[in-house]
Amino acid sequence: MTITEILNQPEHSRFSLELLPPLKGQHIDSIYRTMDALMPFDPAFVDVTYHREEYVYREVGPGLLQKRTVRKRPGTVGICAALTNRYNIETVPHIICGGFSVEETENALIDLDFVGVRNVLALRGDAIRSEGRFKPEPDGHPYAIDLVKQVVDLNKGIYLDPDLRNSTSTDFCIGVAGYPEKHFQAPNPASDLRWLKEKVDAGASYVITQMFFDNAQYFQFVERCREADIHVPIIPGLKPLTTAAQLQVLPQVFHVDLPEALVKSVEDAKTKEQVKEAGMAWCTAQAEELLDKGAPTLHFYTMGKIEPTAEIARRVLGTVNTG
Ligand code: FAD
Repeated sequence: MTITEILNQPEHSRFSLELLPPLKGQHIDSIYRTMDALMPFDPAFVDVTYHREEYVYREVGPGLLQKRTVRKRPGTVGICAALTNRYNIETVPHIICGGFSVEETENALIDLDFVGVRNVLALRGDAIRSEGRFKPEPDGHPYAIDLVKQVVDLNKGIYLDPDLRNSTSTDFCIGVAGYPEKHFQAPNPASDLRWLKEKVDAGASYVITQMFFDNAQYFQFVERCREADIHVPIIPGLKPLTTAAQLQVLPQVFHVDLPEALVKSVEDAKTKEQVKEAGMAWCTAQAEELLDKGAPTLHFYTMGKIEPTAEIARRVLGTVNTG
């Protein structure tokens, strides 16, 4: 089923989540443990992130370093296939422009089609950590919209090789990212919104937002999208703050603001447990208001931590979905 079809069902679950593949060398069991803990809340779908290569330096002799590229979290496609098989749930692999030629992207989409994946989230991806600035491959896509267009072409049976005849069409439902507080590289919110509209006009069927901690940011974003003629579902992304260090890390990594009241409640907490509770109470209140005001579903960024998401789901949806 596509995400659009799921969201169109009147009684669909209001809970969805994003998982990270385990670090290379670790077992898929950690993913199964997360799913086992969260399945009682009946997730509508599960996203699986994609992580591009990073540079590492290995000592190969006295004073001699060798630069190597490694992918620390491979396995996105395999996890999607395994979860669908084991839990009978719709999975959404993230596909990114970074690190891929258009040919490699086409081949990856063919793999996804063959394993029965019906949904993708099309993203540009971030810069390699040590590079600072996103650089597309010479024969790769510079922006997410170009990736959306490639998937749309494949959905029409248009492959890169113009000589292919009678080729099979795929049937992917495409999601894209949106930023209530603006993408950090966009010169202003209006320009960012213009590019979001281009992605939707090119064929994206829904938007998942970057995490935010002030619901007013989400409601204003939805309003601005509607005024700009963007009428697809806009799924809010939520992340429970769980440590005091995240007061610095989240704004730095995700370019989001933390409201003063949340910061104060974390600063006033005396123990790690109280910090976690302050973050979960905040996220619970966000989730309740979002659902009250008609958000299509909640989308939780688990970031490898099950318990905070499970506890918030229990508080917000417990009686609905576990009964
Ligand atoms: P784009 O839509 O391409 O936008 C990038 C920037 O360029 C924006 O500032 C936009 O305003 C501007 N822009 C867009 N199109 C054009 C154009 N044609 N010409 C000029 N300017 C343009 N990253 C990963 O590496 N792996 C993941 O799994 C992953 N999952 C994510 C999931 C969600 C829900 C979100 C919100 C983000 C995720 N990211 C992930 C991070 C994402 O890759 C980064 O935020 C990246 O910097 C931008 O991706 P995008 O798809 O929004 O890019």
